[in-house]
Amino acid sequence: MRVAIIGGGVAGAGLAYFLGRLGAEVTLIDAGEATASHVPAALLNPVRGQAGQVDARALAGLRCTWALLGALDAAGHRVPHARSGVLRPVPDDRTRSRFERHLPAELPHRWLAPGNAPAPLAPGWAHVLWLPDGGWVDGQAFTDALIAASGARVRRERALAWTPHEVRTETATLHADAVAFCGGSVGASWASEAGAEAPRTHRMGTLLRLDRAVSDLPLSFGAYLSPAARGGVLGGTFETPAPTWRPPQFPLASLDWLLDKGEALAGLRGTRITGHWTGSRLSGLRAEQDARGVWHLSGLSSKGFLLGPLLASGLAREMTGQASSAVPSRRG
Ligand SMILES: Cc1cc2nc3c(=O)[nH]c(=O)nc-3n(C[C@H](O)[C@H](O)[C@H](O)COP(=O)(O)OP(=O)(O)OC[C@H]3O[C@@H](n4cnc5c(N)ncnc54)[C@H](O)[C@@H]3O)c2cc1C
Repeated sequence: MRVAIIGGGVAGAGLAYFLGRLGAEVTLIDAGEATASHVPAALLNPVRGQAGQVDARALAGLRCTWALLGALDAAGHRVPHARSGVLRPVPDDRTRSRFERHLPAELPHRWLAPGNAPAPLAPGWAHVLWLPDGGWVDGQAFTDALIAASGARVRRERALAWTPHEVRTETATLHADAVAFCGGSVGASWASEAGAEAPRTHRMGTLLRLDRAVSDLPLSFGAYLSPAARGGVLGGTFETPAPTWRPPQFPLASLDWLLDKGEALAGLRGTRITGHWTGSRLSGLRAEQDARGVWHLSGLSSKGFLLGPLLASGLAREMTGQASSAVPSRRG
């Protein structure tokens, strides 16, 4: 089976990897522009946002991503990451109750007093949720390793138009048994400009690169502090949602807000900012075949590394007609 995948972020790279394992011959067409998956340190955090929501697929997603990192490591691909656990400090009893309402018993977790947390926190937190199966991963290294391990043929150019069996790029027309669109925020915006996709919600955010990791364990509430391949990061996707992707701009308006969040998490204690990275993520999950017959894996929102590989694995099975996995891969 010949498959053409448009987009080489964690969605397209994951799909290429699993399709390759199922024996498909994959061509990956990636413009290499505004790739959200190149986030310097992405959290694997199953308990989301300030409401503590837990996606029904979170535990399976964690297992899938860690297993994939293990397989890549065994195959000699170096991907900086740590299955260190994640700490979610919460400010008061009400927030803790809200988190508790969403926490499934099967998701390993423990509530700790802030003084007993395995990483130092700034004063003022009421409770800390410890998620031992969480951690962080270097987004670009992970995505690059997936592409390398997939065996896919890679074309570094933009796909201009596509049907279920054909992709027209800047330089060629490619024929395939199946076509999958994994274009992320920038790709959905280009496609909606061309009338090929309905408008979606895009949200930008920035990671400040730090000269050292303030905490050995990722900390998250509002923003996140995490170790990274070099030093650490402070960031998140906090800009106002927008109807289209926009070129990355350093969000000076939010800089004070972000630094305040970092101080509130752990105190930045003289940490130096060494750079920044800005990206845009897309909401509105699509993991399905559309009415025309084109496959989609996009709209992974802020869960690209938690759910992307799991959904890619389910979709690859569906596309190749393999026995369906336990993984729900339809819109959800
Ligand atoms: C600041 C920030 C922090 C984040 N933190 C986390 C986190 O902690 N944990 C987590 O799980 N997720 C996090 N995310 C979200 C995560 O990065 C995304 O969910 C994920 O990377 C989306 O992957 P994707 O493959 O769908 O899209 P992308 O990674 O954006 O990849 C899409 C690729 O397709 C290419 N493309 C698009 N259209 C075309 C076309 N027509 N032709 C050719 N190529 C095309 C693009 O150039 C790009 O390379 C964060 C995002 C941001 C911005």
